[in-house]
Amino acid sequence: MSKLLAVGTVAFDAIETPFGKTDKILGGSGTFVGLAASQFDVQTGIVSVVGEDFPESYLTMMNAKGINTDGIEVIKGGKTFFWSGKYHNDMNSRDTLITELNVLENFEPVVPDNFKDADIVMLGNLHPLVQASVLEQMSKRPKLVVLDTMNFWMDISLNELHDVLKKVDVVTINDEEARQLSGEYSLVNAAKKIHKMGPKYVVIKKGEHGALLFNEGNMFFAPALPLAEVFDPTGAGDTFAGGFCGYLTKTKDISFENMKNAIIYGSNLASFCVEKFGTERMQELTQEEVSNRLQAFKELTQFDIELS
Ligand code: AMP
Repeated sequence: MSKLLAVGTVAFDAIETPFGKTDKILGGSGTFVGLAASQFDVQTGIVSVVGEDFPESYLTMMNAKGINTDGIEVIKGGKTFFWSGKYHNDMNSRDTLITELNVLENFEPVVPDNFKDADIVMLGNLHPLVQASVLEQMSKRPKLVVLDTMNFWMDISLNELHDVLKKVDVVTINDEEARQLSGEYSLVNAAKKIHKMGPKYVVIKKGEHGALLFNEGNMFFAPALPLAEVFDPTGAGDTFAGGFCGYLTKTKDISFENMKNAIIYGSNLASFCVEKFGTERMQELTQEEVSNRLQAFKELTQFDIELS
């Protein structure tokens, strides 16, 4: 079975949307990536860190889904990373209210021996130095390295981010972050500039407006499935990335053509993530639901025009 190694935060989130408010619930970029990837027949391992306050039951839940958590270090007496965000009425924009790094402050990731030869590495949203350290520990160059990041890291460690970007194949980033990173408003121009920073493939996530894939002159667009109700968008971007990587790991095909399918799989999984608070929907998701919605996705985008 092919292996996917993901690094990212395993966190407590407190979320406020027009539909309600949560106390500290399970979240984190690594958690969402892992849960999305667990939908595929691949071996997924997460590298992260949590504090002593992190319930064992969350790790047990991940293990039950086949996610290897040997790389999640538990720091005695430490406090888990905490993020709090509030969404506006349109759900497309949010304010970060609190980011407490806690145990992330001094985190030195350790890749478990049996994941050092992973086929695909997903450098999920985390400090760029931690992302780089994971890559350095691999025993061989993975077939594909995918990186996700956000404005927080661009603001506080842009140079380190540029260093790690030189070593990756694919970057997944949202539209506002692509504009911030490139200094270009047009997403086509932003992708061109990001290509020059290293990644051959640039995926720009546009929330409810879908995702764009750029590869040196080639372009592909996938819509997001229009949903009657978006309950909580937290983790949709990470779920998308986890689905994208999970699909590529399973199919062992990293061509541009297959990446188009990976984008559809990622978008499909993200459409479930937003239906409930936090990780709730991803925890209960069945393969049957996933394939039924894939069919709906296909119908949404299929048309038959004869070109003369
Ligand atoms: P997304 O909605 O896909 O951007 O991801 C939201 C998740 O990212 C939440 O579960 C947070 O715990 C996590 N998160 C928030 N800020 C950061 C950060 N600066 N670094 C890593 N993960 C973060």
